[in-house]
Amino acid sequence: MDTRRTKIVATLGPSSNSPEMIEQLILAGIDVARLNFSHGTPEEHKERAILIRRLAKKHNRFVGLLGDLQGPKIRIAKFTDKRIELKEGDTFRFSITHPRDAGTKEVIGIDYPDLVKDCKKGDELLLDDGRVVMAVDQVTKDELICKVIVGGPLSDHKGINRKGGGLTAPALTEKDKADIKLAAEMELEYIAVSFPRDASDMAYARQLKEEAGSSAWLIAKIERAEAVVDDDALDGLILASDGVMVARGDLGVEIGDAELVGIQKKIIQHARHNNKLVITATQMMESMINSPMPTRAEVSDVANAVLDYTDAVMLSAESAAGKYPLEAVKAMARVCVGAERNPITRKSNHRLGETFNRWDESIALAAIYTANHFPGVKAIICLTDSGYTPLIMSRIRSSIPIYALTPKPETQGRITLIRGVQPIPFDPAALPEGKVSQAAVDELVKRGAVKDGDWVILTRGDSYTRRDGTNTMKIYRVGDLII
Ligand code: PGA
Ligand code: MN
Repeated sequence: MDTRRTKIVATLGPSSNSPEMIEQLILAGIDVARLNFSHGTPEEHKERAILIRRLAKKHNRFVGLLGDLQGPKIRIAKFTDKRIELKEGDTFRFSITHPRDAGTKEVIGIDYPDLVKDCKKGDELLLDDGRVVMAVDQVTKDELICKVIVGGPLSDHKGINRKGGGLTAPALTEKDKADIKLAAEMELEYIAVSFPRDASDMAYARQLKEEAGSSAWLIAKIERAEAVVDDDALDGLILASDGVMVARGDLGVEIGDAELVGIQKKIIQHARHNNKLVITATQMMESMINSPMPTRAEVSDVANAVLDYTDAVMLSAESAAGKYPLEAVKAMARVCVGAERNPITRKSNHRLGETFNRWDESIALAAIYTANHFPGVKAIICLTDSGYTPLIMSRIRSSIPIYALTPKPETQGRITLIRGVQPIPFDPAALPEGKVSQAAVDELVKRGAVKDGDWVILTRGDSYTRRDGTNTMKIYRVGDLII
């Protein structure tokens, strides 16, 4: 079977908490585990992280950890009887003063004092990811009085969005700030920031994680209408991050589902063009929460994101709270591999007319160009410190495997999200300088990735004592003596 290049991010939750299930998910091929900081205690997250890392190690697999901050998702409070049923035409009120645990069929409390300032008559409010829709009829000092447009059940703590965006809560809450410290302590490879409005929210998150001593790469979740109003807004967020998530749940609610497909393609393209990572998320295999088989539409959705060249596809409730977490991972893996057979994912003519900013970028792109255009090449071996060089290589479409050789566990964990790149532990500093390249090629032969007669491309820095970064590319035939 072909090796899968597109990475799978699986959210863990009640359905996937047991050591047995986590082990099965790792064996089925998850690359990154998403810890959702909206649920669970710090102790639970820590235990889970230790378990994942232990089980990954047991099976010689690399599983990165991504901590997803809760963010300022605005939620309704609680109902006296947990849940109500709303009908089209009903009148319903959101109150910033009503007791937080005593919602009724007429009124619910809400913990967002600016709600009455941010909304006006005529606004459309979407609850529970758009399942219930209301129009604002009247705004008073402490209430929004609404008319139900689409009815349905409404239960405790469901989220609320405004169509068109513009609920202006700052991206990082007190809880998020504490969770950034937790992420630093847990040495997570990735931190996802929920609902960032612009680059300054990401810069603030970066400052906080640096102060906390975390080397995590930051993912901006693109889930507000403001983030995609124009190219400047989107590119600003992308450039302030190490990667982005197409967070289709909230984004779809704010901009409407019909706009979403085009925007998804644009986000993926802009992220890759700016040398950043991209995860495509939410409802990818939604029916698998209750069914062991995906629908054709879901298969097509995952395949489309793969053809657009997303780095990773993500499972949310399917793996966290569904009945078939393992089947969902297996289905996703199978669909990715199938889509990757399509010729358009395997080669690129892109960036032929561009100049590069850095020498390591130049080497990375020269390497992938050579690999794509020299038929004998079976692997790219990339000796890397931070993972930056293989990241750049994998911004260009290719079917040639990229092996990132690094001694750093932190970099091994980070590589998990990068499409087409596999981490391999390898410590050049432990070898005499003249033996490093030969040892790197031998490592791939030992793993069965290449054999005598194959061509390989190797990129590295001249020196491992100085941190000059990658400045050489060589092409070797396996079996020939390497000097
Ligand atoms: P969430 O983010 O699952 O944390 O809401 C993803 C999304 O909105 O799609
Ligand atoms: Mn969201």
